[in-house]
Amino acid sequence: MQIIHHGAVNGVTGSCHQLDVNNHTNNISSYLIDCGLFQGAETAGKSSAEQLQIDFSIDNIKALIVTHCHIDHVGRIPYLLAAGFNQPIYATTATAALLPLVIEDALKVGVTRDQTLIQACLSRLKKLLVPIDYNQWFLLPINPVPKNSVINGDTFTKAKLKFKPAGHILGSAYVEIDLTGPKNHHRVVFSGDLGATYAPLLASPKSPYRADTLVIESTYGDKNHQGRKDRSKQLKNIIESAVKDNGVVLIPAFSIGRTQELLYEFEHIIYRNKNNPMWQNIDIIVDSPMAANFTQQYRQFKTLWDNEAKNKLAQGRHPLDFNQLTTIDSHQDHLAVINYLDSVNKPAIIIAASGMCTGGRISNYLARFLPKSTTDVLFVGYQAQGTTGRDIQNYGPQGGYVYINDQKIDIKAVIHTISGYSAHADQHNLINFVKRMHHKPSHIRIVHGDDEAKQALAKEYRKLIPTAEIVIGKEC
Ligand SMILES: [Zn+2]
Ligand SMILES: [Zn+2]
Repeated sequence: MQIIHHGAVNGVTGSCHQLDVNNHTNNISSYLIDCGLFQGAETAGKSSAEQLQIDFSIDNIKALIVTHCHIDHVGRIPYLLAAGFNQPIYATTATAALLPLVIEDALKVGVTRDQTLIQACLSRLKKLLVPIDYNQWFLLPINPVPKNSVINGDTFTKAKLKFKPAGHILGSAYVEIDLTGPKNHHRVVFSGDLGATYAPLLASPKSPYRADTLVIESTYGDKNHQGRKDRSKQLKNIIESAVKDNGVVLIPAFSIGRTQELLYEFEHIIYRNKNNPMWQNIDIIVDSPMAANFTQQYRQFKTLWDNEAKNKLAQGRHPLDFNQLTTIDSHQDHLAVINYLDSVNKPAIIIAASGMCTGGRISNYLARFLPKSTTDVLFVGYQAQGTTGRDIQNYGPQGGYVYINDQKIDIKAVIHTISGYSAHADQHNLINFVKRMHHKPSHIRIVHGDDEAKQALAKEYRKLIPTAEIVIGKEC
């Protein structure tokens, strides 16, 4: 058995891992876990064709397993299909529902406006997609072991898969792959992206019972998040002080996950502040047709919500909806809103993608409003190295500038960051994920993080399981 990483090894983006089974025989079976897009610094020095191409052989790949539908985990799927991939794509039921929407958006934004091409890709994707419920074993296709092969502890004749809730975004899962053979039994766990405890809407992930090999993300491997009460209070305070000068508050956010979490929090703040006219009147604008689509899906899959969210629903509240919420659909309306907000002296909160300001409608807002001192930009998610979001975080507070759509934009806006809303587990959560396993891994591979984060987490795991072999990123 071996694991090869085609992405998320040096940084956090481009997740794509390959598990090879029976690689000592001439009849290998491989499984691909995620097939994501590279973003930010990890695209440096590569042409856009190079970033997208599938630069590995897909001959032995028996299946693609999708942990969740963030673009850095699924964005290269159209290129995988274009390379001739014609095997099942396994995903949780909610992910299977969301995935075509995500891919359609990715194709429209980054590749082509040709509806025939888009539809052809989507129909192939839908044909290959196999939705699987959480917590159920599902047999994976595996090639037979050739008769003349050496049978050893690394020979497996059966492979099965289970998705467990990861609490990261709707439908997200970590993956257990169970391998059995004549002489051994081995369980590989791929964490995908793990959610943080007390994330709004979704329950936090529970550790697996057993892992022999663990491939784990480390986005926040060296940090701990603020407590839940703090972040809600901080969000409320930042907004209240930001709107005093009648400026806009821009919140870059992923269309899936973060946007819905923010709506959930705003509904809560509005509900708790019935006597505060500001909160009862402030316009909250979600400028993204995709986000609106996903919010719809979040409402549809309410069985996957955590108990707190379900209780609110039972009390007749609508955790993802309120009067002051406006959704912008067409591009024309999007431009009209920017011009309108620019011409009036009225506060508003705008939530738009992309979450790391690498494109999307938030870019047009940033280009227009960053040079105004009445503007506030609020980061609630991780900003990868080399992204415009990270640059604004770094240079904004010093009165610097950024390039947006090839234009130099001075930053006069006030920049805020709240870390407590991260959709990613923090160091404490990542340690607990392993600590709470009954049967702990003898081999851990740390991926999906910056170097410092990976190093810090490796140190903690070494303390926790001194006998385990722990490998970091590039060395994988
Ligand atoms: Zn993710
Ligand atoms: Zn990720």
